Amino acid sequence: MLTIALSKGRILEQTLPLLEKAGLSISEKELQSRKLVLDTNLDEIKVIIIRASDVPVFVQHGAADLGIAGKDVLLEHGANGVFELIDLGISKCKLMVASKPDQDLNEGTLKVATKYVKSAKAYFHSQGRQVEIIKLSGAMELAPIVGLADCIVDLVDTGNTLKANNLIPIELIQNISSRLIVNSASFNTKHSKINDWLDKIKDNL
Ligand code: AMP
Repeated sequence: MLTIALSKGRILEQTLPLLEKAGLSISEKELQSRKLVLDTNLDEIKVIIIRASDVPVFVQHGAADLGIAGKDVLLEHGANGVFELIDLGISKCKLMVASKPDQDLNEGTLKVATKYVKSAKAYFHSQGRQVEIIKLSGAMELAPIVGLADCIVDLVDTGNTLKANNLIPIELIQNISSRLIVNSASFNTKHSKINDWLDKIKDNL
């Protein structure tokens, strides 16, 4: 049996067609049900659909053999006990610094609002810039508007969310895409099954 952990939301919309091309499908009935462990068309594969940030945690602890998660989430998790098998090239976006157009980001200690604390700290520290990180769980765009922070670090896709809040993208921290991850115990004990899967996914990328 293989268990695959998938991220809810945006990533799921692009993950399901990719899995389907590789021969794994989940019926609409299963997807709409309140079940947490979903059956697939293949008896030996089950799927769990959870919060994106929980995917590496489930994989790390062996509660799922494989997972699909954004690089943003993996960087925050620290990738302890999990490794990336392949870049799936889906859910592409950019982790960026954004602020109000007239904001000076080069003076004194910068107040940065973000959900991506590790990535933001690493980025500013690598540049020798002093920052105070304000951890938020969402609606980061609000922080510069209400004076909570000088800038934000967030994912940017179309840029529409920034534009709607009169913010502009300023610095690129990292290009992001979704990765297939595995824990080493599963990779060792279920090596041939996982490799079969990996080949099917690679063939259809
Ligand atoms: P956009 O308006 O298209 O630039 O999207 C920005 C909003 O969507 C922000 O709130 C981001 O946190 C979120 N977002 C964009 N791309 C992704 C992604 N690949 N995964 C998760 N959230 C995303």
